[in-house]
Amino acid sequence: MKVYIETFGCQMNENDSERILYLLENAGYERTNDIAASDLIILNTCTVRERAKNRLYGHIGNLKKLKNKNRDILICIGGCTAQDLKEKIIEVFPYVDIVFGTHNIPELPELIGRRRLTNKSICSVENNGFDHDLFKVRRKQSFKAFLPITIGCDNYCSYCIVPLVRGNERSIEAEKIIRNIEELVSGGLIEVTLLGQNVNSYGKNLKKTYTFSELLEKVSNIKGLKRIRFITSHPRDFSKSLIDIIKNRDNIVKHIHLPLQAGSNKILKEMNRNYTREDYFNIIENIKKKILDCAITTDIIVGFPGEEREDFLQTIDMVKKIRFNRAFTFIYSPRTGTKAAKMEDHITLDEKKKWFRELLEIQNIISSEENKKLVGKKFEVLVEGNSAKDGILLKGRMENNTIVNFEGDSSLIGKIIPVIITGAKTFYVMGELIRNNS
Ligand code: SAM
Ligand code: SF4
Repeated sequence: MKVYIETFGCQMNENDSERILYLLENAGYERTNDIAASDLIILNTCTVRERAKNRLYGHIGNLKKLKNKNRDILICIGGCTAQDLKEKIIEVFPYVDIVFGTHNIPELPELIGRRRLTNKSICSVENNGFDHDLFKVRRKQSFKAFLPITIGCDNYCSYCIVPLVRGNERSIEAEKIIRNIEELVSGGLIEVTLLGQNVNSYGKNLKKTYTFSELLEKVSNIKGLKRIRFITSHPRDFSKSLIDIIKNRDNIVKHIHLPLQAGSNKILKEMNRNYTREDYFNIIENIKKKILDCAITTDIIVGFPGEEREDFLQTIDMVKKIRFNRAFTFIYSPRTGTKAAKMEDHITLDEKKKWFRELLEIQNIISSEENKKLVGKKFEVLVEGNSAKDGILLKGRMENNTIVNFEGDSSLIGKIIPVIITGAKTFYVMGELIRNNS
């Protein structure tokens, strides 16, 4: 039996897909990239913005032809849209066989068995307290791993649907995380990325409390682990001690992803972010003072309800002053059930799009200028695979998270190698492999 799986959205969803694959392989399924040759299709979905949901609807619509050709194929929809829309998915697409929520992954093999015996589609989205072993996963590569340290979120930013579809924040015991990473390192792990919606609030609900800084120190002590990344940091909980740990530990990368979301205090308050622009500037100043060449990336939302031109200009002001290496920018998208969806919003979508393009243009120039500063310098690069652009060049990642494309043999994949940067683009740089370190 063959399973085809497609993942939308964030790294947390990638990790969930790896868990699904582990469970299904144990149930006798083999992964295929050929959707038409599969017995089971799984779409692991995202609902953070309306557009992600609309694209998913198009996608499920396209599966109808396959189902008409082969009635035995099972179509399963999981992830955040499944958790959000529940039975509605089956109402709109009656040929969908199973809808399973973010809490119901451990149940999936049983749901599939049950569906094959009945004629009725199944929707399972209740949180029944299943045993979530987040570390039982099937990974494509052994040298690199994403590892959740918390799931869910307690922050309730007023625009965000994540707490509604992922539940409250729960931390995983530090001992369990360490044990898992040690095992992975003995199997060839070079780089780990610790995942959480707000990694800085790690440990709150544990019997034996640890702060995120303490956890990071413990992970950093693991022998043989070359690179430690973590996403996402929340400015409200970002501690000074964390900056010192990043500075002092060679295997913690010098890259911090710190979502700003907005540059105006009025909007930050309405977003329920719990920090001011001044707080954010202070954190950045501390980072830049202490950690030389630390890359800083961010997320920004344009056109939040009530945002005026002056508020938007304050975001632009921060972008120009801070000079982020990269910013992930989004036009505000109302999500049903969130506080912001009920707020008055009088700026037109066309106006928001104009602001969005303005921001993008400024940020792209900054990203490209920051990348140009790397030209002529030598960096250690972890080779991740072939470049997505042409499939011929290799794609590597510098410690500061910059992507480098360069010519080389695929035997280098999974290794850390020295590269000299030869050219800069907006979102990546070009490089040349340094042979024999000459
Ligand atoms: N937990 C992370 C944090 O606090 O920044 C990120 C979670 S979210 C999956 C990733 C990004 O999507 C957010 O940082 C935010 O910029 C954006 N986002 C979330 N909800 C949004 C919405 N309703 N409209 C537009 N962008 C949104
Ligand atoms: Fe959403 Fe805010 Fe939680 Fe991030 S911290 S997942 S933006 S509610």
